[in-house]
Amino acid sequence: MLYVSRTWWNFTMLNGNSVAKLNISLRGGLIQPGDEGYDESRKVYNGMIHKTPRLIVRCANVADVIRSVNFARENDLLLAIRSGGHNAGGLGICDDGLVIDLALMKYTRVDPAGRTVIVGGGCTWGDVDHATHVFGLATPSGIISTTGVGGLTLGGGIGYLTRKYGLTIDNLLSADVVLANGTFVRANADENSDLFWAIRGGGGNFGVVTSFTFKLHQIDMIYGGPMLYELSETADVMKWYRELIPSAPDDLNGFFAFLAVPPAPPFPEHLHLKKMCEVVWAYAGPLTKAEETFKPIRAFKEAVLDLVGPLPQPALQNMFDGLYPPGLQWYWRADFVKELSDEAIAQHIRFGNTLPSMHSTMHLYPVNGAASRVGKNETAWSYRDATWAQVIVGVDPDPVNNEKIISWTKSYYDALHPYSAGGAYVNFLMGDEGEERVKKTYGDNYERLVAIKNKYDPDNFFRVNQNIKPTSKTSETIAA
Ligand SMILES: Cc1cc2nc3c(=O)[nH]c(=O)nc-3n(C[C@H](O)[C@H](O)[C@H](O)COP(=O)(O)OP(=O)(O)OC[C@H]3O[C@@H](n4cnc5c(N)ncnc54)[C@H](O)[C@@H]3O)c2cc1C
Repeated sequence: MLYVSRTWWNFTMLNGNSVAKLNISLRGGLIQPGDEGYDESRKVYNGMIHKTPRLIVRCANVADVIRSVNFARENDLLLAIRSGGHNAGGLGICDDGLVIDLALMKYTRVDPAGRTVIVGGGCTWGDVDHATHVFGLATPSGIISTTGVGGLTLGGGIGYLTRKYGLTIDNLLSADVVLANGTFVRANADENSDLFWAIRGGGGNFGVVTSFTFKLHQIDMIYGGPMLYELSETADVMKWYRELIPSAPDDLNGFFAFLAVPPAPPFPEHLHLKKMCEVVWAYAGPLTKAEETFKPIRAFKEAVLDLVGPLPQPALQNMFDGLYPPGLQWYWRADFVKELSDEAIAQHIRFGNTLPSMHSTMHLYPVNGAASRVGKNETAWSYRDATWAQVIVGVDPDPVNNEKIISWTKSYYDALHPYSAGGAYVNFLMGDEGEERVKKTYGDNYERLVAIKNKYDPDNFFRVNQNIKPTSKTSETIAA
């Protein structure tokens, strides 16, 4: 039997009228190698990722998505789905296949009375904040406004409002989904509830989500920002922080981080590029109670720099956008953490002292509070008993330093992993961590996810993701 490579086969098969036919059937458009804008369109947020898709379809509506899904399936093309393109492992793009780029689907519709928002699959969180803030409303998202709603939501969604209102998926009411066979379904508590369970944490494994409906909360102003401490005080700060977060009121959130102070305002010049540690706070309770809430925090230790104060919710959401523009080199490793032991803190101090670049960091995001009051089998997200999602991030603008940031990230992770809870937040996994790591992350929800994958995507058509492999069929090799 003669085996041919998928790339060659697809190239030959697509050399007909089929691509032209697809093109005229679209309201958006498609881009192929050699077209103007192709190189720009295949870039993703992580500058380390360089992939060359055969087709990029810029979908304008659900019809374009259905046509693209059918085209990819009928032509046996690998399919990637791109919302914000932020995935560090580059899972929003693929080599040789078809990319469904949702960026044109940027609509939002707020129902201020019902406190919901309908969000197109191509929106970033900045788009959502823009639409909801004018009504003094918000839903839990992340910490950077350029991140896509699609990937962040389907993986779970951790951010400033997690302790008060839960993960992003805990606020998802309904989703419109195009399945592998091209059918369009709605997933919510009443319709296709198994699919609704799976997409709340199971990533892009089950279909293309063209629209999300979220619950909104009355959030207008936040009392928040960073408080910076000397690096030499890390042990004190971490030991105090590990006691504070498990018992803090839900209104209070704060992630711990290492940083090299950015050489720009609002940071004073004498601190520029100095290695420090910080807690980035977000208090979402009544502003009249904010100063009082922060009294014990300020009494614990005088910060070297205290930038915490009242600010509009979107201002906190985009505070770090300028520091992390698209195109930087990213490599990260993650774990869930239940407790911060003295031994783990000693390792954090060791690696915090050797941050390899100005952009590199380690964040500990609280995932307790409201997020921990949802049962571990109520959604696909299994680690409801973790206290933090930890992510170690090597970042640098210059690819020359890739070896340096990757080796620091891996060594730091190797030193900390023994103190972790086992799995990691799927959205903080790279693309190279393997099936076992994905299984660990879903724990005893994994088997149920496989059963739902068998039902909705038995051929593993949606596999450019942290893949949940179906057990019912395989179609890996094309024989000729
Ligand atoms: C700078 C930065 C900051 C971050 N901060 C946070 C944070 O605060 N909180 C947090 O929880 N995460 C955070 N993340 C992680 C982020 O959630 C993931 O990178 C996520 O994958 C990004 O989503 P995206 O839509 O931008 O990604 P993309 O690269 O577009 O897509 C990523 C994956 O999601 C799937 N996908 C995306 N959209 C859809 C859709 N509509 N239907 C089906 N599948 C889809 C794709 O198949 C792909 O596998 C951050 C990432 C970066 C780089």
